[in-house]
Amino acid sequence: MDVQGLRKAFGELEVLRGIDFSVARGEVVCVIGPSGSGKSTLLRCVNLLEEPSAGRVVVAGTEVTDPDVDIDRVRRRIGMVFQAFNLFPHLTALENLTIAQRRVLRRDRGEAERIARANLERVGLSDKAGSYPAQLSGGQQQRVAIARALSMEPELMLFDEPTSALDPELVGDVLAVMRALAQEGMTMLVVTHEMSFAREVADRVVFMDGGVIVEEGTPEQVVGAPQHERTRTFLARVL
Ligand code: ADP
Ligand code: MG
Repeated sequence: MDVQGLRKAFGELEVLRGIDFSVARGEVVCVIGPSGSGKSTLLRCVNLLEEPSAGRVVVAGTEVTDPDVDIDRVRRRIGMVFQAFNLFPHLTALENLTIAQRRVLRRDRGEAERIARANLERVGLSDKAGSYPAQLSGGQQQRVAIARALSMEPELMLFDEPTSALDPELVGDVLAVMRALAQEGMTMLVVTHEMSFAREVADRVVFMDGGVIVEEGTPEQVVGAPQHERTRTFLARVL
């Protein structure tokens, strides 16, 4: 994934003011930064949930920002996991995993269910296939949301603060699933405040503030020995 000169304004408000960075295949990049710095907007521009004001975004060889792009095709290759789990409340975990496979990828019921069960197993929830979201803990719901994204077999996974709505005791299970995904070689762009996760799992950490990348580097560099005052101030608040 490659982002060049990315800008996004909402009216007068410039939220992204020229972002350049890339995520190589199989790489895990964590984005950190204060609230309002543009992290969610950056992720949303990558799959065109927001239309960039300027710049280029390329995902797995396809220019997302090309006006002629088939955006539905591109989105199929990008999995997104939000802070809120956004599961369908009236569908079981299994049905939440099969619906998009059937409607978007046109998989038949048997294949969709086979892939769904494999992904529920991957997130440690084989026994919850028949449960409705309300019967699951927040951490279990978020793992179902991850399994749902994986069922579409994405080439890139975007995570936007996936654990920040969870009770502290449920965070670890979700991070463990993400860590395993990283080890399997999934390409991941993760907005998170979990500094221990960033330190252990990220290949690179990007610190954003005020719509720009202030610094980026290895976790040892950015979290362990930040060069910029703004990064130090932020880390002092979250660590
Ligand atoms: P972060 O995820 O780092 O907290 P966001 O990307 O959510 O930051 O937001 C960055 C800024 O953009 C904030 O000032 C926010 O209020 C503003 N913003 C985000 N989305 C919209 C929108 N749809 N319309 C207007 N302003 C927005
Ligand atoms: Mg955000």
